[in-house]
Amino acid sequence: MYEKREGIMDVYIYPQVKDEPSKIPAEKTADYLKRLVDITHSTGTYDREKYVQLIHDICETYNIAKGESGFYQNLLMEKKNEGEWFCDYDNGKGDVLMIKHRIQTNSGAIIIGALYVEKDAEPLTKEDIDNLFLMLRVLTGFISRFRLQAVVERMGFHDESDYPNFRSFARKLFMINEQKKLPGMIAVHLDLHNFGIINQKIGRRNGDIVIRNYFNMIKNVIGDDGCVSRLGGDKFIAIFPRNIMDEVLGILSGVPVCYGEHGEHKVEVSAAVGVYEIPNSFVLNSPGDIMDTIMLASHEAKKSSENAVVYYDESMRLKKDRLMMIHNKFYESLKNGNFLAYYQPKVDVNTKQIVGAEALCRWNDNGRIVPPIEFIPILEQNTEICDLDFYMLDCVCRDIRRRLDAGKEVVRVSVNFSRKHLVDVELLENILKVIDDNDVPHKYIEIELTETTTDVEFRDLKRIVYGLKDSGVFTAVDDFGIGYSSLNLIREIPWDVLKIDRCFLPLDEDDENSITNIMFNHVISMALDIGMECVVEGVETIKQVELLKDNYCDIAQGFYFDKPLPFEEFEKRLDSKGY
Ligand code: C2E
Ligand code: MG
Ligand code: MG
Repeated sequence: MYEKREGIMDVYIYPQVKDEPSKIPAEKTADYLKRLVDITHSTGTYDREKYVQLIHDICETYNIAKGESGFYQNLLMEKKNEGEWFCDYDNGKGDVLMIKHRIQTNSGAIIIGALYVEKDAEPLTKEDIDNLFLMLRVLTGFISRFRLQAVVERMGFHDESDYPNFRSFARKLFMINEQKKLPGMIAVHLDLHNFGIINQKIGRRNGDIVIRNYFNMIKNVIGDDGCVSRLGGDKFIAIFPRNIMDEVLGILSGVPVCYGEHGEHKVEVSAAVGVYEIPNSFVLNSPGDIMDTIMLASHEAKKSSENAVVYYDESMRLKKDRLMMIHNKFYESLKNGNFLAYYQPKVDVNTKQIVGAEALCRWNDNGRIVPPIEFIPILEQNTEICDLDFYMLDCVCRDIRRRLDAGKEVVRVSVNFSRKHLVDVELLENILKVIDDNDVPHKYIEIELTETTTDVEFRDLKRIVYGLKDSGVFTAVDDFGIGYSSLNLIREIPWDVLKIDRCFLPLDEDDENSITNIMFNHVISMALDIGMECVVEGVETIKQVELLKDNYCDIAQGFYFDKPLPFEEFEKRLDSKGY
């Protein structure tokens, strides 16, 4: 019934044609074409009003009842009829399809333009049809460009859940920068608190609704003067003017958010927020600069249990620089032997004899002796700490071997091993290999490990302690009483030594009946009853030494006797037979 035009695919024209010249003046058609070209060739957004008026004029002139266009992202969507249809003109009587023009772009998108006439409409002339067809082709070409732009916008600047993404944040940033309005703006990174728990409690679908509603609350406050984008999961980034800062931070610090079919349920949502107030001196080179800066504050906010909102300050950058410096220098320093084993004696409080020592690491950084607190937590962020611990074990074994070779007295030395080792399935073999390579009797080595946080770690810890015990290496629970240590840790694992953290050691001014005193007594008697050796850390005064004696705890480690000493000084101490 339809003619398929030769040479041009996918054009269907209803064959009712009058074989006579057009009655429409040529100037009118030329004017329409000119107006069409003007609208469709302008860059940027098109003037919708002018466009609608033009379509209206064309349809009336040519007696068209309805003009519409369709857009499908691909063939499959066309097949399933999952497209977007737009009607630009409709007098309500267009029941006969007259021209249908379908094009498929290189990217696979399909654009359709269709014109309808009334059932009893007088047929158009061939010239009219040709002119209309020309206009329809210009129009579908324009619509294809316009619609594809919208797809690019959606795909390039939105994520899979249709939230604006980082690219859209970056675009806004450049626009604000272009307008020279960046100084004084506020950039924030937010990481929603406990969203995993919220999802568990109300279900993932409701969780999605809550995030969407929370996002919209922020977006509505910010409006067009800034933007909020999702970085992924429950993390967002936003930029906005300072005058709405209180309002935005009010939402970020915690608000009830609705969900449910009719929004009848509520859940409290808050976020850990890093804030960066963009200074006047700021020069935007890349959006990453702002991102890096807020992330420093956001990290602090995430770590802090009280401060949900943390403002960026320069000390954070210095800290980060120092962190990077330590990571960069670490292996070079290790290779150059700049990490040193210091020894802190463990002393029998009754005989004042040195009965052992703990090896504690010091970093000789160009002559400055750096304490472990400044670098161990940083090395623990990855597995660098494991290399350091093995290095320390090797140092200790070599020092012991040297004394044994010289026929001198040797005491058991404990070496700290980070929890990070627990995932290493060959940890036991590797420890024994270092000790055996140095030909050191196992009884001279003790491995100090701290508490664990997860069940998996607990299982690994148990396996390693059993293994060390079987091979005659001593094991100690370090820092007992703080962190996550539980009684299960000593019930299920056969430790040799319990090292009681110094925060459990009563201070001189503490009352005899203070909680610390009572707990101290009981922890020690429990350890001794179980048959563990008990070492108290941080003994600084004679009164504390007496307290240990009163409680039948024999071994003290602390400044009262000595600070951690360089090996040569420790040797002197050892050779002079105690205090
Ligand atoms: P830690 O294993 O609990 O070591 C005891 C810490 O208490 C040492 O601090 C020691 O100097 C300090 N201390 C000893 N007696 C006293 C005292 O009477 N008063 C006070 N206020 N402090 C005392 P240090 O050497 O700064 O080491 C800190 C922590 O760094 C260690 O705590 C340990 O967790 C870690 N660490 C040190 N060396 C290594 C190592 O080679 N490997 C690993 N993984 N960690 C290490
Ligand atoms: Mg220790
Ligand atoms: Mg300790």
